[in-house]
Amino acid sequence: MKIITHEINTGGIDEKYKENLFNILELAGQSKTIEFESASGELANLLNNWNGSDSLEFALAELFKDTSKIRLLISEGGTEKFKSYCLSKAPHAEWGCCLSGFIGVEYAPEPNRLVTQLHETLHLLGVDECYHENTLEPKAECLENKCLMRHGVVSTMACPYALSQIQS
Ligand SMILES: [Zn+2]
Ligand SMILES: [Zn+2]
Repeated sequence: MKIITHEINTGGIDEKYKENLFNILELAGQSKTIEFESASGELANLLNNWNGSDSLEFALAELFKDTSKIRLLISEGGTEKFKSYCLSKAPHAEWGCCLSGFIGVEYAPEPNRLVTQLHETLHLLGVDECYHENTLEPKAECLENKCLMRHGVVSTMACPYALSQIQS
């Protein structure tokens, strides 16, 4: 799997992001299959110039004919177009969201930036929430209090249930 990152507005991929993601993937036995790249050219232009209201999923599907081995992680860092777009689709997505399993967006305050980037990336790799979206309470399958797939947890650790779902 290739993860293409993009930083916009005051966003920034955390300097510990790759290392922590690698550690999580290693625990899942999948660390050898991941590659990283920064968005450039046509993709960077599309993300920078997107108007915040047209379908982002559609625009990206037009650009990438085959998305089976590519995922996109955007760090926006503030209250701008990606955050507004995500909140219009998922009102409880305070720090970040995942769109159609292909695009992860992070717009968290600084202390929660790394955990949100990791959380959204795990969604991109097929991992479900470890909390019930209606109550925000942890799922019974998640036995780790510090699991980053729970709601509102700030950590770099994923529980065995989350690890077992990773597909890269
Ligand atoms: Zn989530
Ligand atoms: Zn969990």
